[in-house]
Amino acid sequence: MQKKIRKIVIVGGGTAGWMVAAALAKTLGTHHHDIVLIESEMIGTVGVGEATIPQIALYNSVVGLDEAEMMRETNATFKLGIEFRDWRKLDHSYFHPFGFYGVDMGGISFSHYWLRWKKAGGNLDYTKFNVETEAARDEKFLRTNDDNNIYMPSVNYAYQFDASLYAKYLRMISEKRGVRRIEGKIVDSAQNAESGFIESVKLENGQSVTGDFFIDCSGFRGLLIEQVYKAGYHDWSSMLPVNKAVAVPCAKNGPPLPYTRSTAREAGWQWRIPLQHRTGNGYVFSGEFISEDEATARLMNSLDGEPLADPKVLKFTTGVRKKSWIKNVVSVGLSNGFLEPLESTSIHLIQVAIAKILAMFPGDQIQTGLVDQYNEEMHWEYDHVKDFLIAHYHVTERDDTPFWNYVRTMEIPDELKRRLETFRNRGETLCHKSELFKEVSWFAVLYGQGLEPTGYHPVANSISEDDLKLRLAKIRSGIQDRLNGMPSHQEFIDRYCAAN
Ligand code: FAD
Repeated sequence: MQKKIRKIVIVGGGTAGWMVAAALAKTLGTHHHDIVLIESEMIGTVGVGEATIPQIALYNSVVGLDEAEMMRETNATFKLGIEFRDWRKLDHSYFHPFGFYGVDMGGISFSHYWLRWKKAGGNLDYTKFNVETEAARDEKFLRTNDDNNIYMPSVNYAYQFDASLYAKYLRMISEKRGVRRIEGKIVDSAQNAESGFIESVKLENGQSVTGDFFIDCSGFRGLLIEQVYKAGYHDWSSMLPVNKAVAVPCAKNGPPLPYTRSTAREAGWQWRIPLQHRTGNGYVFSGEFISEDEATARLMNSLDGEPLADPKVLKFTTGVRKKSWIKNVVSVGLSNGFLEPLESTSIHLIQVAIAKILAMFPGDQIQTGLVDQYNEEMHWEYDHVKDFLIAHYHVTERDDTPFWNYVRTMEIPDELKRRLETFRNRGETLCHKSELFKEVSWFAVLYGQGLEPTGYHPVANSISEDDLKLRLAKIRSGIQDRLNGMPSHQEFIDRYCAAN
């Protein structure tokens, strides 16, 4: 007989561990469930990971965070999207915004109307129909629920923050809500002889911590999911060959930009993430194509401010556990898998896991049907993000280094091949409704990378040319009005984050 799930043990206190703790404490509460988190300061956390995507607002609101307070606590800035430099070819850049292009009409996306218009000689770039791209270019920002004007496009945003401070902030909230933290290094675990369920973990000081349900947030090592249960790993490094990163913060050199920058390099890419007090930087690279020393030198030579620490090298294998939930252990965060931070998806995937754990949270018994469902759904989430990332590398004109020649010509998944083909023929991306990256994201990246559709959806021909022109002009003027009323990003932060 299984025991009732009363005591939950979270193994690890990085961003994943504390996000889980804060969410469980808020939703399940600590009266019916005893929630314990074990972490080891000596082992520490990954300590990088600063850019997010807009969905994090949902997590923050479920946990009950006050946005301005969260921003003060984590030195956060606003993020409107990602600028991709040198990805399609050298000296070229494009922007992947969080919001929409124009307005969808007749049940199809705006991009089809724009493609029709362009083919007929229209010469205004599609980026002019997106408010986030325009605001990013002008370094402006406004939370649109601050101005009550329903006739102008809303501004979609996420945050750039210090993920270690975010975890610290969530720890404070979790402990206030009754989560118990235990400091110590886990050295062993005990399983039930019959069921194989984990019954307790043992710390280096001899203490044993029992539990009914364990959430493995132990980072890359996967302390329970891999070291005990040998879940196995889908290794995707043949299609996403970067496997190392060197990271270093530097002093800021002006007001923070409201976006993250990704600059393609000879064997990978470099991030630049502006926070309120400093800038985060890192070169994500493939060790097969460049040495650690060369990558570090490249990073250090391209900083636009004084380095504030020694560069730190991290190694990873891109992929995901074959099973994320086994018996009474669920892995969340890096212990479950890792996809390079090109589209800032790791913290989001933690959030997705938390939402699914809550939706399928066991009552008296762990149901194998729900476990199977969880495993399928989590794999699906990682798999679709994986294809989107591959598209950034594969659809390129770059042929200037062995790394770019490899990714441009490598074998890609069949599903992605189908998408690229359909996009090439009629600007459609075959997005599944529940996919994280919607048609607008695929359009921004594929078009930005140089894949120009030859056709478009036939419904885009259903309105007259005059009507189309009028609608485009209206959309454009709404965006311009929105921009005219926006303060600079820095001004907005100063005003919004000022302590009340
Ligand atoms: P960790 O931070 O490694 O935490 C593991 C925890 O487990 C620690 O508390 C540790 O002490 C504990 N632990 C481990 N072993 C034991 C033990 N034996 N006993 C006790 N405790 C133990 N994500 C984004 O969303 N955006 C980004 O821009 C982004 N950039 C990234 C860049 C790089 C180079 C990397 C590698 C990751 C990036 N990420 C990003 C991912 C993000 O950093 C992680 O998803 C996030 O920090 C979660 O990490 P974690 O909590 O799973 O693991």
